[in-house]
Amino acid sequence: MNLILIAAPAAGKGTLASALNEKYNLVCISAGELLRGVDPNTELGREIRDIQSRRELVDDRITNALMKERLMKDDIKNGFILDGYPRRMAQVLAVNDMCEELNLHIDYAIVLNVSYDVALKRTLGREICPVCKKTYNKLTGVNAPKVDGMCDDCNVALTRRNDDNEETFKAGYKTFNENCPAVIEYYRNKGILVEVNAEGSPEETMEQIERIIGSK
Ligand SMILES: [Zn+2]
Repeated sequence: MNLILIAAPAAGKGTLASALNEKYNLVCISAGELLRGVDPNTELGREIRDIQSRRELVDDRITNALMKERLMKDDIKNGFILDGYPRRMAQVLAVNDMCEELNLHIDYAIVLNVSYDVALKRTLGREICPVCKKTYNKLTGVNAPKVDGMCDDCNVALTRRNDDNEETFKAGYKTFNENCPAVIEYYRNKGILVEVNAEGSPEETMEQIERIIGSK
């Protein structure tokens, strides 16, 4: 089974990708990780780092080429999840070309929906234990630490990620809303869209998906 995961910011994509990987034994292919995985000592690696240091988007030509190369590896035979890609219609068309050429088939495109308010609270309230890496959230009412700002298990102060601020969140949300509706509409018309409310716990999100794609 081959899946595409389309997630609004702070929809819990990472957690869900791990759950899908565990349940269905699917390889998770993240566009971000592919870009980070390019050897920085190569010409391509230097080019990617330059673009990212200017906080610009990496050209589709590069992302598409890396994605295609990744999809040619043997470990995807049991199935894969595309995570964070395709995000724009140009990338959707590239995926179609790759699938045709490599004789692959996308079974479902899963959309994780989260309202603006919930996504903002998840982002601004997120705190991480620097020791055990457990994440907490003091704003959503889910996973709040017992003592404000402290890890329940390690008794050390929780930290926040630099990019978990309102400005970065708003920019990400805007980009998502500019590009993703067309992508979602495309997969809806193709009849393979699975829309999921991702405002609850990861388990609740996973249950909704299993109900549709099966639990074997
Ligand atoms: Zn801890």
